[in-house]
Amino acid sequence: MHSMILSEFADVVGQENVHTSQAEKIAHSVDYYWVPRVWADRGRLTHQPDFIVYPETTEQVAAIVRIAGYYKMPLVTWGGGAGSQGGALPTQGGIILDTKRMNKVLEVNEIAHTVTAQTGIIHQDLEWEVNRHNLSTMHFPASISCSTLGGFLAHRGTGTLSTKYGKMEDLIISLEAVLPNGEIIETPPVPRHSSGPDLNQLFVGSEGTLGIMTKATIKLFPVPEERRFRAFMFRNNHDALDAGRRIMVNRLQPAVIRVYDENETVHQIKKVLGIDRTGAYLVYGFEGYKDIVEIQERIAAEICLETATEDLGPRLGESWWENRYKFYYPPYIMDLPEAFGTMDVVATYDKIENVYYKMKEHAESFPGTHFIAHFSHWYDWGCMMYDRFIIHPDYVPADPDEATRLYNRIWNECMHIAVDNGALLNEHHGIGLKLTYAMREMYGTGFKVLQTIKKSLDPDGIMNPGKLGL
Ligand SMILES: Cc1cc2nc3c(=O)[nH]c(=O)nc-3n(C[C@H](O)[C@H](O)[C@H](O)COP(=O)(O)OP(=O)(O)OC[C@H]3O[C@@H](n4cnc5c(N)ncnc54)[C@H](O)[C@@H]3O)c2cc1C
Repeated sequence: MHSMILSEFADVVGQENVHTSQAEKIAHSVDYYWVPRVWADRGRLTHQPDFIVYPETTEQVAAIVRIAGYYKMPLVTWGGGAGSQGGALPTQGGIILDTKRMNKVLEVNEIAHTVTAQTGIIHQDLEWEVNRHNLSTMHFPASISCSTLGGFLAHRGTGTLSTKYGKMEDLIISLEAVLPNGEIIETPPVPRHSSGPDLNQLFVGSEGTLGIMTKATIKLFPVPEERRFRAFMFRNNHDALDAGRRIMVNRLQPAVIRVYDENETVHQIKKVLGIDRTGAYLVYGFEGYKDIVEIQERIAAEICLETATEDLGPRLGESWWENRYKFYYPPYIMDLPEAFGTMDVVATYDKIENVYYKMKEHAESFPGTHFIAHFSHWYDWGCMMYDRFIIHPDYVPADPDEATRLYNRIWNECMHIAVDNGALLNEHHGIGLKLTYAMREMYGTGFKVLQTIKKSLDPDGIMNPGKLGL
C-alpha cells in the first residue's frame, strides 16, 4: 500500500518531490511550538508524517488532495514551519503537503496596488519582489524570512506596522483554495461588498482545516515619503499604556506603537538597544507624506510629553526600528533549556492592564517563573499584549512529560484568567494544536457553526485533523 501511494504522488509531482526519508520526517515534525521542541531536545520522537510531498501548481495540490481523500489519509499543509502553536504538526501521521515550491509572484498590479502570488512564497521574497516596483506589502513580521504568505493568511498573522496597514486579514483582496474534495475555488475579486458572507475570511484563519490556500492577491502600499520614529520613557506601564491609548483613540494613525513593560525595558531594551533606564519604554512611528507626518507626530509627542519622564528623541526610536527583529532571535531570545510560552492576548483598553497584572501575578506564583510583555499591535478600541512566561531551567522538570504538564498548566490557567477578564487568545499566532481545546470555550454556541462548516466541506476529516478543535 505504502509503495502504491508513493507512486501515485510521484506521478503527480515527480519522484524527486516526494520524500520519505527520516531526515525529512523529523524536519516536518517540529515547528516553533515549545512542546515538540523539548521532546526532540530530549531524544523523544514526535509524531511524524508518512509522506512529504512538494507540489508546484494548484492542479498538483488538487491531485494530492484527491489521493488523500481516496485513502482517507490525514493531510497537513506545511508552509515555513515557524508557527508557535503546533498548527502544522502531523499529529495523526499521513501526508505533509509542503508549499515551498509554490513560490511564484504571478502579477504586480501598479494601478490597483495589489500583488498576486502563490502562497508558498517566503514573505521576505515577496516583499523584495514588490519593492522593485517601489511598492511594499507593509507586512513586517519578525518571521518574515522563515514564514510563508499562506502561513500568515492561515494564522491571521501580523507585522510590525499593522497599526496603520492592518493584519493579513485586512490585506487580503481575494484567494484561490483547494477544498478537501480536491475542487479548486476562487473567492470574489473584491474584499468589500454586500453580496453575502465574506468567503475570504472563511479560509483566512482556518489553519488548513477547511482547504489549502494556493494563490492570494493582497494589497500593496507606496513606499512612504517620510518614516519617523521617536521614543519616550515613562514612570510605569500605566502611564505608557495610557499615552498609547490616547494616540489611538484620537485617531492619529501611527504605523506602530510599542510599549515594553517595566521588566522588558530593563532587560531587553537594555540588551538590544543599549538604553539603560528604569520605567516603561514607548516607541512610536508615523509615516506617509512629510507634511502630514509632521502634524501627526507633533500631536502624538504632545500627548506623550504630558506624562513621560524623558523624551529619548528620534535616534533611540530609529534604533528600535533598525533592530526590531533582533528581539526574537539568539542571543536575545529565550531558548531551551528554558521553558517559555507566548500567550498573545488582545483586549479593549479598559481591560488590558488588568489582564496583564492578573496573568503576571498568576504566572509568577509558579517557582522560577517570570512574566514579561510588550504591547505591540494597537487599534482604536484596544491593543495586543505579547506576553511570555519563562521558566528558569532549574525549575523545568527533566522528564519531558512532567515538563509538558507544568508548561500546559501555566498556559491553561493563564489563558483562563485572560478570558475570564474579557480578553481573547490569540491575536495573531493562531490556535493550532496548543489551544485547540479552548476553541469551544472561546466561541461559545457559535462553535457549532464552525463544526457544521467543517463537516460539510471535509466529511472524512482529512484536512489538518484535530486543529482548531475541529
Ligand atoms: C522568530 C519568530 C518570530 C515570529 N514573529 C511573528 C510575527 O511578528 N507575526 C506573526 O504573525 N507571527 C510571527 N511568528 C509566528 C509565525 O511566523 C506565524 O504563525 C506564521 O503565520 C506561520 O507561517 P508558516 O508559513 O511558518 O506556517 P506553518 O507553521 O508551516 O503553518 C501554520 C499553519 O498554517 C497552515 N498553513 C500553512 N500554509 C497554508 C496554506 N497555504 N493554506 C492553508 N493552510 C496553511 C498550516 O497547516 C498550519 O496550520 C513568529 C515565529 C517565529 C519563529
